[in-house]
Amino acid sequence: MNNIVIVTGGSRGIGAATSLLLARQGYKVCINYRSQSEQAEALVADIVAMSGEAISCQADVAQEADVIRLFDQTETQLGAVTHLVNNAGILFRQSRVQDLDVARIQQVLMTNVVGCFLCCREAVRRMTNGGAIVNVSSVASRTGSPNEYVDYAASKGAVDTLTTGLSLEVADQNIRVNGVRPGLIYTDIHADGGEPGRVDRLAPMIPMKRGGTPEEVANAIAWLLSDEASYATGTFIDLAGGR
Ligand code: NAD
Repeated sequence: MNNIVIVTGGSRGIGAATSLLLARQGYKVCINYRSQSEQAEALVADIVAMSGEAISCQADVAQEADVIRLFDQTETQLGAVTHLVNNAGILFRQSRVQDLDVARIQQVLMTNVVGCFLCCREAVRRMTNGGAIVNVSSVASRTGSPNEYVDYAASKGAVDTLTTGLSLEVADQNIRVNGVRPGLIYTDIHADGGEPGRVDRLAPMIPMKRGGTPEEVANAIAWLLSDEASYATGTFIDLAGGR
């Protein structure tokens, strides 16, 4: 197998769990990070220690030149990219729409939407022999996250639409494009958003009465990337405990 995957924002959380799982499955993995170089390098070392192959690459997915460099570096060091996981995403403190400033809205859209767009574009330009892409959205794309993160929810709505549109555009090029929509997952994104205990606080409202793990999301991403999902494109898997 010569599967080469880029996982954006792959140094921690869902991205790290996905990078590890794909490496175990035999993928050569490029772990993209924006600022967490130590975590990315530690993950590369873990993968190498289990006889896998991985590199790390700093790049801000919201910057076009960075994205091109990310794909160039992966190609040079690992080979032509066959798979992509658009996982990088950001979330800010809870806020009502009336209090949102434009700088925050732009930052969320640049990372979550433009970043995903640029990586998808670069991937389909280079996947001349076919490939598979999974975009990490959120159930927020459908709940709208009122009084909390409407900007974030709107960005994930755009990720869903991008996934649907692109999947149709490249379906006859043997490139599959799918999405996952996590619910409340135990990762540091909630602490970054100002509430480390958010998942536990909201767990009673989840039908399954618990948050999810990054590994539970990674399993679905890996399946959608795999040949087992060979007839799946433009589809989404919700990983939200019934929410
Ligand atoms: P996380 O904060 O641990 O991971 C996000 C990663 O993306 C971080 O490593 C961060 O540094 C990186 N990143 C942010 N901006 C970047 C940029 N411009 N360029 C490159 N990397 C960048 O959180 P997570 O929960 O693992 O999030 C992964 C994805 O899952 C995100 O897209 C998030 O929106 C989505 N998600 C998470 C949850 C949840 O409850 N944890 C729920 C729904 C969706």
